Amino acid sequence: MRYEMMLPRQIRTAIENRWPVVLPLGVLEHHGEHMAVGMDTLAVIGVLEILERERDLVILPPFYYGAASYAVEPPEGTGSLHVDADALAPLAKSMFGGLLRIGFRNIHVVIHHQTENFSAGMPTDLAFKFAARQAIFAFLERERGEGWWGSEKMADYYARQSASEDPFNWIKAHPLMIPAKMDGYPFDHAGEGETSLMMDLFPDAVDMSKLTDDKWYTRSAKSASRELGARGRESILAHLREALR
Ligand SMILES: [Zn+2]
Repeated sequence: MRYEMMLPRQIRTAIENRWPVVLPLGVLEHHGEHMAVGMDTLAVIGVLEILERERDLVILPPFYYGAASYAVEPPEGTGSLHVDADALAPLAKSMFGGLLRIGFRNIHVVIHHQTENFSAGMPTDLAFKFAARQAIFAFLERERGEGWWGSEKMADYYARQSASEDPFNWIKAHPLMIPAKMDGYPFDHAGEGETSLMMDLFPDAVDMSKLTDDKWYTRSAKSASRELGARGRESILAHLREALR
């Protein structure tokens, strides 16, 4: 379900049944002359919309305004829109704090931008991961008071840590694509892999007649196809079916 369309009764059902609540996170960034600037965020939205048809899932309104950076192209006339991670962290902390207050305890962020080295992190995902930790600490102190962790009630903390009861499992971040689970699918920026995925999920976001070969990162896009995109979509779905529980 789309969160903005839910009635309070449905929200309470989602809370009681621990439905995954997912924030699609991405950026607005130049993806060559042949592809829409929203690609990274659209890819997350497109796959989540398919997953939502097969299981109980709450999709939050997507957040497009991540730290795109101007590493690919300067913004003038290209469409990249960069917001500093320093500005994102307090906003994300506030958003997560609000979601915890509503009652959600199974919150996920799915991101597709600069995720090739996800464990080390990049500015957008790091800002949201940092914010998630801060929001959980602030929420626990507000609900349980300072000293909550040291209290006798927490004596079995380490035993329960791996279970979903661990408050630090309340918010998790996932990359859209885990290379090891993509079965050799090309990982790129605006190349064959991303272009194929857009052809499959949002064909209107691609215009192959505008493809140029003056930029190294778009050159492989000429081999893009809907068939390849469908393969990528299935690999991503398999990964998210496991990750979003
Ligand atoms: Zn991209």
